[in-house]
Amino acid sequence: MKKKIIFILSVGRSGSTVLDKFLGSHSDCFSLGEINHFTEEFIKNSICSCGVGQQECPFWSKMMRHINQEFQTDLLRNPDAFSTNCKIGKGSAFIRWLKLIDFLLYYSGNFPFVFRRIKEAMQNNIFLYRKVFDKVQENILIDSSKDVIRALFLEKLLKAEIECKHIFLVRDGRATVNSILKREYRLLKKENDSKKEKCATFKSQVKIDFKSAVFQWKKVNKKIKLLLDVFKRDNYCLIKHEDFCKDPKSTFNNISNYLGVEWEDSMLDLTKKTHHMVGGNASRINAKSIQPSEEIWTTSFSDHDLLLFNKSAGQLNERFGYK
Ligand SMILES: [Zn+2]
Repeated sequence: MKKKIIFILSVGRSGSTVLDKFLGSHSDCFSLGEINHFTEEFIKNSICSCGVGQQECPFWSKMMRHINQEFQTDLLRNPDAFSTNCKIGKGSAFIRWLKLIDFLLYYSGNFPFVFRRIKEAMQNNIFLYRKVFDKVQENILIDSSKDVIRALFLEKLLKAEIECKHIFLVRDGRATVNSILKREYRLLKKENDSKKEKCATFKSQVKIDFKSAVFQWKKVNKKIKLLLDVFKRDNYCLIKHEDFCKDPKSTFNNISNYLGVEWEDSMLDLTKKTHHMVGGNASRINAKSIQPSEEIWTTSFSDHDLLLFNKSAGQLNERFGYK
């Protein structure tokens, strides 16, 4: 059977982590989480979804040893080794445009890709996919790194070897913005040598105001839709987070043909398998089942917030079917 990678593409806080964990609960799927942050999270010793720090996690600590043996350089020293959103020109719109043009030329023709650093990161990601496929029994990897350019780039590089599928996940912009603005979250962490879980509170490092959060939702969704429409035509699927939370089985069955994965009841129980997801939000650990989507924005948004949202992103939100 040809190996497969399912990419989940979305704005952050759209429910990609839970969708990843749900798909990864299938007997033939393995959840990677936000694998583009692999070394960054490893260096920080972030909590793996199995409940312990990544450096203590039996799966990733072993994987890092294997990788370091084969690489000449110590990957642990480079937090951006897998990050395709690399630091070159960070903050510079001009460089970001150059990167996009570079990618478009590369993807649509036979032009070489110019940004060496990004190409290296892509090769590192491919190396890691191969290593994971070697170590796990599952034939399908779920990657919720969310970045559309990265997913298309990797698909092109992997074409002969691995089949790639793309899920575009959308969530009501008002709920997403509300979630982006939430700064505090709780995480269940396993205590040393024990199965007991302890609740710890973390603060998000990202400071963002309402207007920027709305802009981010609009910009990223537009980019994903445009690039998938142009490069994938109808060969991708769209899921609404709210539909998935309300009825995961029907939502999955609508896309199961496209994914080439059949429904299993075990997917509804997110605790049955031990997952080793990298990065993502607290639900990588906390989520035990699919819960109804939260609509806190209906009470937390002021009239002014709603007006501001509708003016900037209302049209796109309506196009996704949100009234
Ligand atoms: Zn783990």
